[in-house]
Amino acid sequence: MAKDRARKRPNLLLTGTPGTGKTTTATALADATQLRHVSVGDLVRDKGLHDGWDDELECHVINEDLVCDELEDVMEQGGNIVDYHGCDFFPERWFDLVAVLQTDNSILYDRLSKRGYAGSKLSNNIECEIFQVLLEEAKESYPQDIVLALKSDTVADIDRNVASLTEWVRQWHPMS
Ligand code: ADP
Ligand code: MN
Repeated sequence: MAKDRARKRPNLLLTGTPGTGKTTTATALADATQLRHVSVGDLVRDKGLHDGWDDELECHVINEDLVCDELEDVMEQGGNIVDYHGCDFFPERWFDLVAVLQTDNSILYDRLSKRGYAGSKLSNNIECEIFQVLLEEAKESYPQDIVLALKSDTVADIDRNVASLTEWVRQWHPMS
């Protein structure tokens, strides 16, 4: 079925629990494809698209409406790799592919510990990964046929994911 899309290059969403490799993968993919890496976390911080700081969760309380308003024009142009640990508040029409990165619990535990996560912040994120929260969220928010789960345990996984996503971008066509 032909889709009504103005964009000439695709928009991808890279999502997953913190520490699964979204930013690493998005950076390499942007380099390989010349697509624009949109780090939503950085945007929220730099442009103040939040309603303050959550002391318990130790993160900004993202203002989803402000983020969507901020991104609408670039998303309409196409050619974006959006990097965020949430996916249910973006308009469905924005994305041509939603990749959910997944990491083995013990590997993720080590990565997040190294990043300085501890206590409930660490355990909440490990639980988020165990229960596949982001994969479920993606499946509920987007058509099943554009949601892809990708293993991200090793550097070889990153290389393989970047290679296959680069190929997908190369083959993508506005009417496909
Ligand atoms: P996210 O953006 O999802 O929070 P990052 O890309 O910042 O994750 O990665 C967190 C840390 O884990 C970084 O030090 C990164 O090098 C490492 N890392 C992420 N994915 C992998 C992977 N598949 N194999 C090895 N190390 C990884
Ligand atoms: Mn990141």
